[in-house]
Amino acid sequence: METCKNCNSQISNSNAKFCDNCGEFLELINKDIQFKEKISNDKLKDLKNILLESIESMKNNNTDLRWYYELIMSYLIDVTNIEKVFRREELNFIDIGWILSSLEKADNSLILYEFLLKVNEQYEFQISSNKEPMNIIIYTNISKKLKEKEKFEDLIKPFNLKVFDFEDYEFEKEHKEKNNFNSGYLMFKFFKETRAVDLLKSDALREIYSFFGFLTYVNKFNKTTTKTHINELTLNNQISDLECNSLIVTDNQNKIIRYGVQNEIITHSKKINKSKIDKLPSNGQIKDFTKENKPKISDKIKENFYLYYLAANENILENSFFKFWSLSEKILKDIYGDMKDTALKKHMKNILKANGYPKYLIRRIDVLYIKRNNFVHENKHGEITQYDQTLVKVIAERLIDFLIICINEVKNINEYGVILNYYNQSPEDKERLISLVKLTLPENN
Ligand SMILES: [Zn+2]
Repeated sequence: METCKNCNSQISNSNAKFCDNCGEFLELINKDIQFKEKISNDKLKDLKNILLESIESMKNNNTDLRWYYELIMSYLIDVTNIEKVFRREELNFIDIGWILSSLEKADNSLILYEFLLKVNEQYEFQISSNKEPMNIIIYTNISKKLKEKEKFEDLIKPFNLKVFDFEDYEFEKEHKEKNNFNSGYLMFKFFKETRAVDLLKSDALREIYSFFGFLTYVNKFNKTTTKTHINELTLNNQISDLECNSLIVTDNQNKIIRYGVQNEIITHSKKINKSKIDKLPSNGQIKDFTKENKPKISDKIKENFYLYYLAANENILENSFFKFWSLSEKILKDIYGDMKDTALKKHMKNILKANGYPKYLIRRIDVLYIKRNNFVHENKHGEITQYDQTLVKVIAERLIDFLIICINEVKNINEYGVILNYYNQSPEDKERLISLVKLTLPENN
């Protein structure tokens, strides 16, 4: 007689689907992908109905099933742990179409369990295939004249990037179009072992955007001035002109994978405009925030650069304003946790005050807040000016700057809050107050 792997009780009926004692679906015990524990019965019922409906439609061949695939996938992410497991293992998402056709003869009352079994089957198939080392070659519009190779290698190391030379590509002789893969601008290489090229591309983009954000920040944020007019006026309001226009996948030997599909470079590489970035950050500026003993804070700062780039690269003024505002809000909530809007405004004022900005600018945060709400909640357009965008950009920059300059004084992100609260005191008072408050923090007990 068999025993249930979940509760060890004996199973008398060899055809039983469920354990009499604990009620588990026997075949699903010990599988990796499971229903979440706290899932409403309504959600499961919905998924069950959609499954039955789509199987019926498939049999009758009467509708475009892709709509069902999307729907089923979103339910699957909702009610199971699939997203976590797939991300962890870097897998491609599953083939819902294949699963549905294999469920055609399944028992309707067991459809949810049979479905999850098939999902696990696909997962096990994918996991048994090997990870492969792959590179992504990223084409930028950074001038090669800026290339002091060793300096660049150092700068991009924290972003997991390397400088890539065209000569390092491995071409088979017959590739006549080979020169189309050359670029007048700097190229970077991102390396990882992966099963899923799509996830690799999004990882590479995260790193390069984060690096672009860092470059933009260093070039556009002038620490030595209290003036806010440090944006170059451009017709399209864009602050960063850094772009990447192609991601080419190669194998370990730098041989282009699926050459034919990757010809996008041929049509785009020549058209990109050179970035006006003319100054490289110093190595010190990178070392300021890449602290090996504080990886969590360093990662947060990198993430903020990524968002900073997206806000700076946005050419619709209102969207850019909104993104810089959201970034500032995010940084403050990382530090303090959730807060009311009045507290948010207070902290924004604090960071400007601490940096010596005049009162009339600090008071403007109240106006920006109203404009932000009118834009987001009332869908009002045309209120936000470039001047507003510049000021909210300065807030975001001052906050990032604050994270970097105080990194040696904190053990975790919440301790920044203690420092920011007393940032405006005289230096002696500040030091005294901070050390007093830090004594009461649990980490020091
Ligand atoms: Zn059991």
